[in-house]
Order: sequence, then structure tokens, then C-alpha cells
Amino acid sequence: MGEKTKKVIKTIKVDVDKCNGCRACEVVCSAFHATPKYSSNNPGRARIRVLHDPLRDIYVPVYAGEYVAAECMGRDKYVIDGKEYEECAFCRASCPSRDAFKEPDSGLPLKCDMCEGEEEPLCVKWCLADALTYEEREEEIEEQEEIEELEIGLEALAEKFGLDKIMDTVVRMSNKE
Ligand code: SF4
Ligand code: SF4
Repeated sequence: MGEKTKKVIKTIKVDVDKCNGCRACEVVCSAFHATPKYSSNNPGRARIRVLHDPLRDIYVPVYAGEYVAAECMGRDKYVIDGKEYEECAFCRASCPSRDAFKEPDSGLPLKCDMCEGEEEPLCVKWCLADALTYEEREEEIEEQEEIEELEIGLEALAEKFGLDKIMDTVVRMSNKE
């Protein structure tokens, strides 16, 4: 068991009834994560996507969650106001069975990082309909959880580029320092 440590838990509350489908959240997210920052915007690179059924005026923002190496065996199906949405439509995973939450050029997984370094998540700031609300609280956690996050990221890179290439790149980067 790892050491206990304090961690800030960040939450974005989504009020689906207030979302009007403007997609400002997708635009600002992709612009913030562009390299260099704000040099482009492509909602395909956003870590949030807004699913919609315009005829019924329903919009559901979904945040990019964890990378998973293999498709899961279960499937989720949602019915909202009588409309049945396709399988996995609201799943947050970056999963090999679909294109959602993958960087369009490299195919690398995208995950919401809560706009690391900003005072508040930019999607929340620019949601003028107040559909998104940001909250923070402190909790005690095992230190091991953070190491697991790093391992998941490395696993995704190794699968994409091969472990040897990752190791070569790390060696090259450390030689530059
Ligand atoms: S910015 Fe707000 S209202 Fe607009 S699509 Fe995103 S969540 Fe919905
Ligand atoms: S919190 Fe930041 S990274 Fe996450 S979806 Fe919103 S804008 Fe994108």
C-alpha cells in the first residue's frame, strides 16, 4: 500500500438541460491544446464533445476519459426522451473500437486534463449558457494512483510507436539536457 497524500479532486458538473449546443466548449478546448497554444482550433482535437439530437433540442456534453487498450465486453445504450442513442455514445473512454477522443493525426488518446495550469477549465469559462460548473475538493488518496496514470500514458505511447522507439526518444531527450 502506498503513502497517503492529499489530492485536489476537480469536478465539472454538466447541466444537460442548460446546454444549447453552441459548441464553444469544443472550440476553446481544441484551441487551448493546440501547439502553439491558440494557433488553431479543430473540435476533432477537443477533449469534450457535444452529442446532439437537434430535432428534439437535446445536447449532451461528454468529457474524454481514460485510454483503454482493448474494447470492453459490455455496451451502454441510453434512451433519453424516447430516443435511443447508439451503443457507447456517451462513453468517455478513448477506445480502439471508435474514433472518439483520439488525436486525428497521430491517433494518440485525448484525455481531459482540466486545463492544467489555468485558474478554471476553459470550457466552463466559455460556456455562456452556464451548463458547466467547476468544483474542487480535497481528498486523501494512495500515492500509487498517480503512478498508475503515468503507466497508462506510457502504455498508450508504447502501443502506438513501440517500446524501443519510446526508449530511444527518452535517451535522446535526456542527452539534450
Ligand atoms: S459551451 Fe456550454 S452550452 Fe455550448 S455546447 Fe458546450 S456545454 Fe453546451
Ligand atoms: S476542462 Fe479543459 S481540457 Fe477538459 S474538456 Fe474542458 S477545456 Fe478541454
